[in-house]
Amino acid sequence: MKLLFICLDGVRVDLALPHAVAADPAFAAPDHAADPRFSAGGADGTLPPEEAADLGPIAPTLARLAAGDSRSEGTIIPMWMTPPTDSGPGWASILTGSRHEESNVWWNEFVGHHLAKRPDILSRIFFANPSARTLAAATWDAFVAPHGPGPIIHQRVDQQRTGQHQLFLPDQSRGIDAADAAVCQWATWRLSHEGPDAAVVYFEGVDATGHEHGADSEQYREAIKRVDEWTRHMVKAVSERHEQLAEDWLIVVTTDHGHKAGGGHGEDEVEVRRSFVIAHRVGGALPEPIRAARSLRSHEVMDLLLDSIGVRQGWMEAPGVGELRDFDTTGPTRDLHFEW
Ligand SMILES: [Zn+2]
Repeated sequence: MKLLFICLDGVRVDLALPHAVAADPAFAAPDHAADPRFSAGGADGTLPPEEAADLGPIAPTLARLAAGDSRSEGTIIPMWMTPPTDSGPGWASILTGSRHEESNVWWNEFVGHHLAKRPDILSRIFFANPSARTLAAATWDAFVAPHGPGPIIHQRVDQQRTGQHQLFLPDQSRGIDAADAAVCQWATWRLSHEGPDAAVVYFEGVDATGHEHGADSEQYREAIKRVDEWTRHMVKAVSERHEQLAEDWLIVVTTDHGHKAGGGHGEDEVEVRRSFVIAHRVGGALPEPIRAARSLRSHEVMDLLLDSIGVRQGWMEAPGVGELRDFDTTGPTRDLHFEW
């Protein structure tokens, strides 16, 4: 099964899909406590569903993906992010299946990160089958740029050389929205004509607008509409491949955090910690692991998706592997068994 994994930064799901949030009690409150270091008291600025719905449907594609239909099954699974709810730790956790302690990504600077030892979901698919064709496109350089923080998605230059692994970082000079549009166009063409085995596509526009105008703004809702439309383009591409080539696609959409009414995130407010995973199988039933999931934490997403698309792999279990040790240089022991 092929995977299209769409990453929408900073989407308030109670605004984008108020009915879905109201319908599942697991969306009501976080399923685990925040570390007090990253707590602002957990205040809840969630809008009541009627009030959010009154603002009009702003994410028709996401709603349709989650609802599914008689041919294509869809679902939306509540997810609770673990503070700090900054983008770096959030996406590193989602895309590498790591807790913050494991990735050592706590802020957006990625200082001292362990991502070389915490490979991303595309790399894990490549490790399972080195013939895999993968791509990633992202407005934020932390995802794919060799010169940026991170990157979360490994470079794999050998596979880039043969076109098996393609990375795209758009020109940022005309603003975030133009960059998001370029990401969409680049990814949609390749999804349509090349049909990679797995793709990660990331859009920053909603988060940037949240910071500038707050979640309680017309601009924020318009930004959600825009990425919903970009999502539709990519869904259209893989749906056509399903129809023409009978390819089996799993489409997944998620976010790394919400936004406060006045803008901002990073701590433990309910509307900031609340996330979601939408899964939709084009022309088929959802894989069993996704059907069984009731509520998720961000570090569980990668394994859930690998299980769902049938990627199996094991890690070498050997004590001491990966451990780095040095010793004080006091000179040789002169034990001739080991003297060479
Ligand atoms: Zn973010």
